[in-house]
Amino acid sequence: MSSQHVLVLNCGSSSLKFAIIDNSTGDEVLSGLAERLAEQSPQVKYKYQGNKQSITLNSGDAHQVAIETLVGLIKQLSLDTHLVAVGHRVVHGGERFTHSVIIDDQVLQAIQETASLAPLHNPANLLGIKAAQTAFSTLPQVAVFDTAFHQSMDQVAYLYALPYALYRDHGVRRYGFHGTSHAYVSAKAIEKLGLNNKPSKIITAHLGNGCSVAAIKDGKSVDTSMGLTPLEGLVMGTRSGDIDPGLFSFLVNQLNYSTQQIDTLLNKQSGLLGISELSNDCRTIEEAAAEHHPQAQLALDIFCYRLAKQIASFLVPLEGLDALVFTGGIGENSDVIRTKVVKHLSFLGFEIDSDANLAARFGQSGKITKSSNSACALVIPTNEEWMIANDAAKLAKEVN
Ligand code: ADP
Repeated sequence: MSSQHVLVLNCGSSSLKFAIIDNSTGDEVLSGLAERLAEQSPQVKYKYQGNKQSITLNSGDAHQVAIETLVGLIKQLSLDTHLVAVGHRVVHGGERFTHSVIIDDQVLQAIQETASLAPLHNPANLLGIKAAQTAFSTLPQVAVFDTAFHQSMDQVAYLYALPYALYRDHGVRRYGFHGTSHAYVSAKAIEKLGLNNKPSKIITAHLGNGCSVAAIKDGKSVDTSMGLTPLEGLVMGTRSGDIDPGLFSFLVNQLNYSTQQIDTLLNKQSGLLGISELSNDCRTIEEAAAEHHPQAQLALDIFCYRLAKQIASFLVPLEGLDALVFTGGIGENSDVIRTKVVKHLSFLGFEIDSDANLAARFGQSGKITKSSNSACALVIPTNEEWMIANDAAKLAKEVN
């Protein structure tokens, strides 16, 4: 079979992550990042055949120019000949999208309409889609939604205890995010544990700059920690996660905060950064904690306590547990966080296998708890790009 390559685009408000994935192997043929778009001296950095290079754009150049530059690069490297589709990561699909779809005018319209639920993300995703449609007019464009995997949640799990009209009239409910990652690592765990086509109870912890946990029963998401927006749930790099909503009136009435300031406080100044007053980066915090920096130690302790509490709460919808899976930059690399979390959960019969846990730090995936335990904890590296490439290639085949 000839190679089937998919261009995967993840368009943020001021950045564009891209990769060309060989769909048969999952290999990254090309990968890179365009940063500081629409700002001073934007740059396209990329990796091809092990070499890292960069192209500097003109100040103010935005997504369209970045994609045109990427197209020029792809053509110059003759990588366009095997491309079968473009896959776009779209953050919010609302209730409309339960699966990935080929993008047509109606899909574009629906993503636009959902922008009220994700005002920072969906408009940027649309910019990427439109620029890619112009650049690759003959290729099918596919939208893969961060929310789609969690559409299997029951209303008991997704409704807030607010006046029902807010849900009925405005779509205010819990949606959940990181769906592509939770779907990928839970499927891998089910495969590893030999539970294909059998009942399975998995909790996945995606711990990157954003963090979320999902409860997955028989391969379907039944609950997750993020909500209407990615702010709900766990402590993250710069996001607070759950807080008392009464904080809003305190900040407004007592401290004269504006809504914009509250938004910035909760999304950009809180989490690991807020508590440590040092950094949002887990590695930096761990290094400082090892040097006995009290607030760095506190930030790690709060992060792990809240994470363990959230994981334990998911035993309610799952009614048991076969495996806990760690993934994302922190989940895959931090033996410190994994040890603390597993320790909090020792009442479930978990006991860390220190050698396996340390080995996972160096890119090994697998079991990190002692095999005599009833449930196990695993490290499984996520691969959202490959999931997006897979869905895009599958849908492209159906239309051709
Ligand atoms: P994103 O959510 O942007 O995709 P990643 O999944 O790459 O981010 O995760 C980034 C986080 O992973 C950062 O907090 C970073 O410090 C953390 N991380 C990466 N490597 C390590 C490590 N060896 N030890 C602890 N944390 C790590």
